[in-house]
Amino acid sequence: MPTARAPSTDAKTPAAGTLSGPARAMHKLGLVRDIDLALHLPMRYVDETRLAPISSLRDGDTAQVQGVVQECRIETRSRRQLLVRLADDSGELLLRLLHFYPSHQKTLAVGRTVRVRGEVRGGFLGREMVHPEFRAVTAETPLPQALTPVYPASAQLPQAYLRKAVVSGLARAPLHELLPPGTVPPGLPPLRDALQLLHHPPRELGPEALEDHAHPAWQRLKFDELLAQQLSQAQAQATRATLAAPALRAGPGSLAERLRAALPFELTAAQRRVVAEIGADIARAQPMHRLLQGDVGSGKTVVAALAAAVAMGAGWQCALMAPTEILAEQHFRKLVGWLAPLGITTAWLTGSRRGKGRSAMLAQVASGEALLVVGTHAVIQDDVVFARLGLAVVDEQHRFGVAQRLALRAKLGTQTAPSPARGRGGEGAGDLKNHEDEVRAQLEPHLLMMSATPIPRTLAMSYYADLDVSTIDELPPGRTPIVTKVFADGKRDAVIARIRAEVMQGRQVYWVCPLVEESEHIDLQNATATHAELTAALPGVRVGLLHGRMKAAEKAAEMALFTSGEMKLLVATTVIEVGVDVPNASLMVIEHAERFGLAQLHQLRGRVGRGAVASVCVLLYTAPLSPTGKARLKAMAETNDGFEIARRDLEIRGPGEFMGARQSGDALLRFADLAEDGALLQRARAVAPRLLAEHPGAAAAHVQRWLASKAEYLKA
Ligand code: ADP
Ligand code: MG
Repeated sequence: MPTARAPSTDAKTPAAGTLSGPARAMHKLGLVRDIDLALHLPMRYVDETRLAPISSLRDGDTAQVQGVVQECRIETRSRRQLLVRLADDSGELLLRLLHFYPSHQKTLAVGRTVRVRGEVRGGFLGREMVHPEFRAVTAETPLPQALTPVYPASAQLPQAYLRKAVVSGLARAPLHELLPPGTVPPGLPPLRDALQLLHHPPRELGPEALEDHAHPAWQRLKFDELLAQQLSQAQAQATRATLAAPALRAGPGSLAERLRAALPFELTAAQRRVVAEIGADIARAQPMHRLLQGDVGSGKTVVAALAAAVAMGAGWQCALMAPTEILAEQHFRKLVGWLAPLGITTAWLTGSRRGKGRSAMLAQVASGEALLVVGTHAVIQDDVVFARLGLAVVDEQHRFGVAQRLALRAKLGTQTAPSPARGRGGEGAGDLKNHEDEVRAQLEPHLLMMSATPIPRTLAMSYYADLDVSTIDELPPGRTPIVTKVFADGKRDAVIARIRAEVMQGRQVYWVCPLVEESEHIDLQNATATHAELTAALPGVRVGLLHGRMKAAEKAAEMALFTSGEMKLLVATTVIEVGVDVPNASLMVIEHAERFGLAQLHQLRGRVGRGAVASVCVLLYTAPLSPTGKARLKAMAETNDGFEIARRDLEIRGPGEFMGARQSGDALLRFADLAEDGALLQRARAVAPRLLAEHPGAAAAHVQRWLASKAEYLKA
C-alpha cells in the first residue's frame, strides 16, 4: 500500500543520508548489524558447483557449462546482437546477447575460456542460451563447493556485494546458543549451524530441499522468530501491568452521559459494546492500549468522543491525533460541534499553525484550560506540554510512521495528577482527590488507536505486541450499500455523463487520481490535467482540485467549498483517502484503480455512501491488468465488507505484504507464517512464559537478537 509517510518517519534512516551506493541500499533494507546480515536469508539458490558437458544439454535445462570461445561476432541482419560460439570437449553452444557492451565483447573474445550459466533452448542454429550469466575463467578456476545463494536485493545493491557482506556478517555475528536446553523443539539444529547451512548449503542438498522452508534449518529460524515475538509480547504486557494510569469513570450526569444524550443519533449496538469495552478499560488504574477497528463509516469518531468525554469529565486532558490536516480539521469541527455546547474548550494544533495562534494554543494546553487537543502529529511535538494528559486517541493509526508512534510513546510519559483547583468538573476522580498531596502521581495516559483497515485478530496480535482489540462490526442504519462498477478507461465519456446527471440532482462527486509511485510531481501533473479536462467537459459545474503539494490553508479552503456543497466535483489525489465525511457525495470515480492497493481502494470508496442516497463507485482501469490487479478489482466489485476485503487482501498478497508492512519494515514475522507454522507457534507460546520466569536473561537476549531494531516500535 503506498503510504504517505513523512520523510523522517523511519527511525532507522537518519544516518543513511551520509552513506552512499550499496551501503545505503543495505541500510534501507535494515541490514545494519552483523546479526541483521546473518539473518538476511537467500530467496533461492543456484547450483554452480558442477559443469555440464555441452552435449548433455537438453531443451529447457538450466545449466552451467565451461568452454573456449570459437567465434564472436555482431550480427545485424535481423536485429543487432552478439553471437558467440562456445565449445567444450563434447560439443558446441551458441550464446546470444541482445544487449551488450564492448566489455562483453572483450570477455567473450575468441580463445577466451568462459563459464556460462543459463537456460538452454533449441534454436535455429542448434543449442543456445540467450543472455546467460558468464565470466572469464581459466581452466584451473575452482568450482564453488556450496550452492550459491540469491538474496533479496535491490537495484542499488548488487548480489555480489551483498554476498560478501553476508559472509562477513555471518562470521562476526554472535550466534552462540542463547536458549536453555529443552526450549527448541527436538531435532532442530543450533542457530549457527542452521544459518551456516542456509547461507552456504552443501551441494548434495540440492536447491529444492531448502526452498520450501520445511528443512530443519528453516524450522529453527522460524521457531526462534516466533519465540522472540511471543517473548516481546509477554514482556510488553508485563511492563504495562506495572504502570499506573488514572482510573477514569463517568458517573450519572457526567460529561459523557450528557454528550451521549445530545447526539443527533442513537448508537448502534456495536458502538455501545465498544464504548463499554473502552469504558471498562480506562476505569482501571493501568494504562489502556487498545485498537478500535471498524469498517469505514462504522462511526469510530463518536466512540472516541465518548471516551474523551469520560476522561475530560474526570478532569483529564485528551489528545486526538489524525494523520492529515484535512482529517484533523474535520475531527476538530465535529468535536467542537458536540462538545463546545457542553462547555469544553478544544485546542487545534497542526504543523502549519505557527506564530501567535500557536503560542496561545500551547498556553491553553499547558495550563489545562484546553481539555481537548485535536491535530496532526504536531500534537506530539516537543514544545507541546500537557498539564495532565489522561487519554490519547490516534486515528487511522496505521498511517503514522514508526518514528511518530515512538514520539507519541515518549510523549505519553508520566503525567501530573489533576489538581481539583485547576481541573474542571472532576467527576469520578474521587480516588485522585484523596492524593492531592502527591503532586506528581506517576501516571501514564490511556491509549486508544483507531483503524479502518480491519485486520484479522491473530494478525493484529502478531503485528502489534500487547494490544487489546475492540471491533465495530456493524454500520449505522439507513445506509444504502455502495454499488461498485469496474470499467476500462474507454468508458470515460459515459462516466463523465454520469457525473453530470449526479450533479443535476444536487449530488456531489469525487474523482480520485492515482498516486504515481515516488513522484509527487507527476501526480500533480495528472491531477491538474484531469481537473482541466473535467472542467472543460462539464460547463457550469464548479470543479475543485486537491493535492498533496497545496498549502494546508488552500486545502482547507478547497475542502470547505466541497463540504458546503458549493463545489460539486472534487478532483483529488489520495490526500482525501482517510476519513473525510461529506454525506452528500454519492459518486466516486477512481482513475487507474489498478494502481491502488485493495485496502486503499476500500478506504476511498468509503468516502461515498455516507448518506441515505444510493451511491456508486466507479473503478476505471487501463488495460492490461496484472493478475493481482484483476483480483483486487474483482474483490472490490464483489463486496463492501471491510473484513472480507481484508481477508481477500491477505489472500492476494500474503501476510508478509499485508498492509504494506514488509515494505515499511514494520512486519514482525519474516520467516514464519502464522497460517502454516501453527505447531511451531504453539510450542513458542508454551515455552515463552517458562523462559521468562526461569531464564529472564536468556529471554531478553533472544528478543534483542531478533527484534532489537523493532523493540521500541513494538511497545508503541
Ligand atoms: P469512521 O468509522 O469511518 O471514522 P465516522 O466516525 O466518520 O466513521 O462516522 C461516519 C458517519 O456516520 C458520520 O457522519 C457520523 O456522524 C455518522 N454516525 C456515527 N455513528 C452513527 C450512528 N450510530 N447512527 C447514525 N449515524 C452515525
Ligand atoms: Mg474516521
